[in-house]
Amino acid sequence: MRPSNSQDPMTPPRKLHIKSYGCQMNVYDAQRMVDTLAGEGFAETATVDDADLVILNTCHIREKAAEKVYSELGRLRLAKDEAARSGRQMRIAVAGCVAQAEGAEIIRRAPVVDVVVGPQSYHHLPQLLARANAEGRAIETEFPVEDKFAFLPPPGREAIRARGISAFVTVQEGCDKFCTFCVVPYTRGAEVSRPVSRIVDDVARLADNGVREITLIGQNVNAYHGEGPDGRAWSLGHLLHRLAEIPGIVRLRYATSHPCDVDDSLIAAHRDLPALMPFVHLPVQSGSDRILEAMNRRHTAGDYLRTIDRFRAVRQDIAFSSDFIVGFPGERAEDFAATLALVTQIGYAAAYSFKYSPRPGTPAAEMQETVSAADMDERLARLQELIDSQQSAFNKAAIGTTVDVLFERPGRNPGQIVGRTAYLQPAHVMARPEIMGRVLPVRIDSLERYSLLGELAVSGANRASLPAGAIAPSASRLVTGA
Ligand code: SAM
Ligand code: SF4
Repeated sequence: MRPSNSQDPMTPPRKLHIKSYGCQMNVYDAQRMVDTLAGEGFAETATVDDADLVILNTCHIREKAAEKVYSELGRLRLAKDEAARSGRQMRIAVAGCVAQAEGAEIIRRAPVVDVVVGPQSYHHLPQLLARANAEGRAIETEFPVEDKFAFLPPPGREAIRARGISAFVTVQEGCDKFCTFCVVPYTRGAEVSRPVSRIVDDVARLADNGVREITLIGQNVNAYHGEGPDGRAWSLGHLLHRLAEIPGIVRLRYATSHPCDVDDSLIAAHRDLPALMPFVHLPVQSGSDRILEAMNRRHTAGDYLRTIDRFRAVRQDIAFSSDFIVGFPGERAEDFAATLALVTQIGYAAAYSFKYSPRPGTPAAEMQETVSAADMDERLARLQELIDSQQSAFNKAAIGTTVDVLFERPGRNPGQIVGRTAYLQPAHVMARPEIMGRVLPVRIDSLERYSLLGELAVSGANRASLPAGAIAPSASRLVTGA
């Protein structure tokens, strides 16, 4: 059943405040919840205090992420009491992976919560709110048989424009890999791919409304195998080829990939598609074969290096980022040394690293933890120092070069426009707002923390196509203010 559009044009919109934790998929889900509730007469508000409905879209990936939800619920209890004192009812919903993992336990620990809804059921939010109104509480954490995407209303034109020129599109959800440390297969469920035609429609609609960059997202995005218009399962590489044909789309990205699912069609997409950015997030977690096996990652460090080489063989300018876990049960000093060696050998443009956090219900949570807190801290610090030095070197190498930047938004300083390079580095220039949504060359002349500063280096056809005065006269010295 599609959610009904119960908005009465005479009633002022109710206010929805949504706070998202964790991954890009949660950011995407939060937007789809806003789109779903727009049909129920809700408009987004940036503050909790005037909200009629507050949704916490939660993350369960590490213990810290999950615990944040309970401290936030403590603060929301005060806001809800305050609203009640002024005669207003504030509803509180917990969505996302903590909702999925903990279900009714959330309401037991935090009775302030009215609705608990898992990541596969948020298309039912209107019905759940109605049930909470009637019965006081509503919980839904089953994996419904229907596909939520078939029920979610598309975002409105205004919503798309307000969200900017870069958008996420979920193409795949869930995961069948069962890495021993990870809750995703339990909270997001089995791997499911959306059909190609639906994704093409979504991307075309976004492009028609000004979106220029699409990041295809999924917990294991390169396991994509959605049904194509020819009735066959299409790979991610095949899908990317199709999306690159959509007018207006100038940049394509995808995340997050598993090294074992890099197939020839994905490599070919990097070889053939100029719109596919040469920056790949390919988590490896550890450089030790022993730990990779205990993690059930299904590949060795050598396999990973060979995969990196396959990308590099078709695009010399390709760069990589990764995720790492330090202190996995059984990780010895030599295992950690193997991780440092792998990082040194590859040379990342960026990477995220985390201390191992046991997650209830996962196989690793049953393993004996062998790495002391002090050793974990020390390993994390050493790994982060190495990654930081690689990232700085990568950023510094841009100085003196001319790079393509997709301009996204005004900077904090007057006259400044901010965009991103192919490698997601923020780049700041002085220019007119008309350049937003355009990919233009920028001569990089300095670096401030993680941001590149430079001047538009447009000539010929590019310069002629810009409105008069779009290039500010003196752009060379500025601070990011970002
Ligand atoms: N699907 C992706 C992959 O295969 O690498 C990543 C999914 S997960 C949302 C993002 C990252 O969180 C992982 O790559 C891993 O580094 C980290 N992570 C997941 N479970 C963890 C745990 N129990 N403790 C610490 N970090 C964890
Ligand atoms: Fe979790 Fe990624 Fe492993 Fe799937 S592949 S279980 S999402 S870490």
